[in-house]
Amino acid sequence: MIRQIIRQLRAGRRFSLDVILDAADAHMVHAPRPVPAGPAARPRTPFETDLPPERIALRTLGGRDRLRVIRRILPVLAHMRRGVALYDRAAVPKRDVARADDIRDLEARARRLGAKDIAYVRIPRDAIFAGKGIPHEYAIVFTVEMAKAPIDTAPSLDCQIEVVDGYRSLASIAGTLSTFLRRRGFAAYPGTALGGTTDYPHLAELAGIGAIGYHGLLIAPEGGARLRLNVIYTNITNLPVRERNEHAWVRDFCAMCRKCVRSCPVDAIYDAPRDRGNGGRQCIDHGRCRDYFTEHFGCAVCVKVCPFSQVGYEQVRQRFKGNPSAPRFEIVDERVPLPAVASADARTP
Ligand code: SF4
Ligand code: SF4
Repeated sequence: MIRQIIRQLRAGRRFSLDVILDAADAHMVHAPRPVPAGPAARPRTPFETDLPPERIALRTLGGRDRLRVIRRILPVLAHMRRGVALYDRAAVPKRDVARADDIRDLEARARRLGAKDIAYVRIPRDAIFAGKGIPHEYAIVFTVEMAKAPIDTAPSLDCQIEVVDGYRSLASIAGTLSTFLRRRGFAAYPGTALGGTTDYPHLAELAGIGAIGYHGLLIAPEGGARLRLNVIYTNITNLPVRERNEHAWVRDFCAMCRKCVRSCPVDAIYDAPRDRGNGGRQCIDHGRCRDYFTEHFGCAVCVKVCPFSQVGYEQVRQRFKGNPSAPRFEIVDERVPLPAVASADARTP
């Protein structure tokens, strides 16, 4: 991955995050039997933009700020590199059934490292991005929270740096937990903090952590809308999956609120999420968002204005009286039932 960056720079090519992420994905071929994407899978949204360099916010920075950004990005790349290296050393699992203490220790470790929440899902094949694959069909999904103060300054460099720090935590936690699981005898592969080969918000919703808001981001009790997500793919077949998602009311609230829809500077957020045909929801016109996002340090205005970012999940829930006229959305993908195995023996006491 780092080699790919150096090659791009040597060739005098414009730095492309998509090329870097594709290089990271290429390590997946080393997984023993990759699970391919399903027939209704969608491609990953590209980051590439046609904007001239002088309109790309990060390219306009002066020396001091540029150094500040580089100092924050290098650890992200280093952790991502360590993560993809785990694909080159394929796990040779000795176990595929977890004991309660495995799950308890995993969750305790994740919390100590800074994860806000952690849950489990069997991945529907259509949630794998088209043309990509994953090493195992089970995933551990976790969140990290971004601090409110820098997000409140969006769009700004401080806000973008907070987002970058979020990616660093995601990459670091996923790598550490994967190594921990391998030492316990399981197969484990970290998802890529940036990009990835599966639709993380969709998986987090299926795992029951929260619900996707109208801005397309996960909203959850721990961290509201100021969350970033990552996964760990594993061969553990008895992960303690949550049987219900209790957060469907969030979208009933969204149908009333629509603050992000009104606040988006380029009207990139749809009036209501659209069915994507693969179990997920399309909330954003990514073409519209991308250029503004690139010109304004990753924007994040929609995250900032969301009441779940401002006052928190519980406060919003307590004040919300319901919205009978909200459009109904299914959360659980009925075509791929969650595994009925073993929540009892593996659930954390
Ligand atoms: S700003 Fe309002 S409509 Fe948008 S995601 Fe947040 S709660 Fe939902
Ligand atoms: S990041 Fe900015 S441009 Fe993109 S959807 Fe959110 S508010 Fe709109």
